[in-house]
Amino acid sequence: MFRVNGSFIMGMSRERFEMSDGSGRRGGPPATPERLAAAMDRDEIRIAYQPKVSLTDGHLIGVEALARWTDSEIGVVLPHTFIPIAERSGLIGRLTLMVMEQSLETCAALRRLYPAATVAVNVSPVVLHDPKLPGEIADLLERAHVAPNALVAEITESRSVTELKIVGDTLTRLRRHGVGCSLDDFGTGYASLLSLLRMPFTELKIDRAFVADCAQDREAWKIVLATIRLGQELDLNVVAEGIETEIVERRLRDGGCEVGQGFRYGRPMSGAALMGAASEGLLTSLM
Ligand code: C2E
Ligand code: MG
Ligand code: MG
Repeated sequence: MFRVNGSFIMGMSRERFEMSDGSGRRGGPPATPERLAAAMDRDEIRIAYQPKVSLTDGHLIGVEALARWTDSEIGVVLPHTFIPIAERSGLIGRLTLMVMEQSLETCAALRRLYPAATVAVNVSPVVLHDPKLPGEIADLLERAHVAPNALVAEITESRSVTELKIVGDTLTRLRRHGVGCSLDDFGTGYASLLSLLRMPFTELKIDRAFVADCAQDREAWKIVLATIRLGQELDLNVVAEGIETEIVERRLRDGGCEVGQGFRYGRPMSGAALMGAASEGLLTSLM
C-alpha cells in the first residue's frame, strides 16, 4: 500500500514547491521584507500540506501546513529564509493569519472526506506576544466553519515560549477555545520540563534531527525514547517528524510513538494535490 501511495505522493512532490539545492533561493536579488510584503499583497504565498499519520495503522490524522514563497525573480525562497525576515519586519502576524485562512479552507474540504482530520499551522512565538491573536483565530475558524479542535498551533520551542507570561496567556486562551497546542522541534530548544507542565500543550513533536538518526545512533534513540515516555507521562500526543525509512518507522512504533510525519508518508504537496489524493482514497492508509 505504501508503494502505491508513496510513489503517487512522491510524484506530486516534484511540483514547483520543491527546491533542488536546498539553499533557499536560486539566485537573483536577495529576499527582503519589501519583496515579501509585495508577494503577500499579490497573494503569492502558497501552502504545502504534509500528512501526519497513525503509526499503528497508517490512517490519516491530519496535515501540517507549510508556507511556500516562489518569487518571480528570486525563485523559491525557503521558510528558513523568509520566516525570520517576516519575524524581524513585523510581517509575521499577517503572514500567520494568511496561512491560517488558506489552511482552514483546505481543512474544511478535507474534513468532508476525512471528518476527523486536523490541520496544524506553525505559529511563531513572536506572534504569541499579540493578545489579539486568539480572537482573530476564533474569527477565522468561524468563517471557515471549522471546529476549533481541528486546528493545531505548532509553536517552535524557544526561550520566549517557556519564559514569557504573555506567551503562556495567549496559548492558554487558544487552548480554552479548543485549539490544540503543539511544541514543535522538541529537544533542540529551550523548553524546561517545568514549562512543559505549566503550558497548555497537547502535543510534543520530536525534532527530526533525533528521529532521522534513531535507527543507527544509540544516543539519538535514547533521546527519542525518553521523549516518548515524557509525552506519555504528561498525557501529550507525541509526533515524530522526519520519518523517511521503514526501519525508523518500526523503531518509533515499537517505542510507543503513535503519530508520524515525514517523506515516507508524503512530501509537502499543494492543496489541489492533497484533495486529489484524498478524493481518490489514497490517504486512507499511508503505510
Ligand atoms: P517544521 O514546522 O518543523 O516543519 C517540518 C519541516 O521538515 C518542513 O520543512 C518539512 O518539509 C520538513 N520535512 C518533513 N518531513 C521530512 C523528512 O522526512 N525529511 C526531511 N529531510 N525533511 C522533512 P519546511 O517546509 O522547509 O519548513 C521549515 C520550517 O519553517 C518549519 O519547520 C517551520 O518551523 C517553518 N515554517 C514553515 N511554514 C511556516 C509558517 O507558515 N509559519 C511559521 N511561523 N513558520 C513556518
Ligand atoms: Mg511544524
Ligand atoms: Mg518541526
